[in-house]
Amino acid sequence: MRTIAIEKITQTVKELVIKACYELEEDVLNALINAQKKESSPRAKKILGQLIENAQIAKDERIPLCQDTGLAVVFVKKGKNVKFEPEGCGLYDAINRGIEQGYEQGALRKSVVAEPLNQRKNTNTNTPGVIHFEEVDGDKLEISVMAKGGGCENKSQFKIFNPTQDKQDICSWIVDVVRQAGANACPPFVVGIGIGGDFEQCCTISKRALLRKIGQLNHEPFYAKMEKELLEKINNLKLGTLGLGGDTTALAVQIETAPCHIASLPVAVNIECHSHRHKTAIL
Ligand code: SF4
Repeated sequence: MRTIAIEKITQTVKELVIKACYELEEDVLNALINAQKKESSPRAKKILGQLIENAQIAKDERIPLCQDTGLAVVFVKKGKNVKFEPEGCGLYDAINRGIEQGYEQGALRKSVVAEPLNQRKNTNTNTPGVIHFEEVDGDKLEISVMAKGGGCENKSQFKIFNPTQDKQDICSWIVDVVRQAGANACPPFVVGIGIGGDFEQCCTISKRALLRKIGQLNHEPFYAKMEKELLEKINNLKLGTLGLGGDTTALAVQIETAPCHIASLPVAVNIECHSHRHKTAIL
């Protein structure tokens, strides 16, 4: 059994939050650079250049990539042979303390309201985060933090298809969801897709799919092909960078699947903007 200090978890989440908001992952930056090289629209090419410059400035000057520094979404994979000390300290509390400290120390905008419909009062801590927990084999603790912007999250959609519906019907719906997302969700997008599971699991895996490196296809050839086909169709929408036209509406389409009920075929599309901020640490 390996013991990890609960304080180390808080510290790690704090650092991941700040880093995610200041530094684009290299694969995302490279995808923007490649898109700019290939872009045929002069306007889109110029804007892609500005997004790349923005990423460089944020990294160099330690300032957020975007004014919307997001809702903190945390994916945790805990090895079965890991325990925390001191015993009795909660993992979720430790993560939320890390989020609070990260948003405070990183001077990041706090965007969480305590209650959604009536008072909508800001918690002023950017907590609680949305935490997804999984137990896996081994003695490691993997923590991934995503700063998920509201504009793109608002355009995400979920639908349960009849299992007899074919792949083309599903692909047409996914492309239409991206079309509807439009400029408000700040393209070029990374499109996370969940297929299978039940109502809530499908949405969770569509978001977890966003953690995969851009350019890394699904390990199943069927879904890898579907990812390529969808990316081509989405880019053929010509929505382009920031919705002002161009060749790059999405940088990647990333599908994750889960087993599902014989009577169901759930599909979720999680739209992620060009400010695709996530960081992972393994303790
Ligand atoms: S959708 Fe993304 S890029 Fe647009 S404002 Fe929100 S966080 Fe920023």
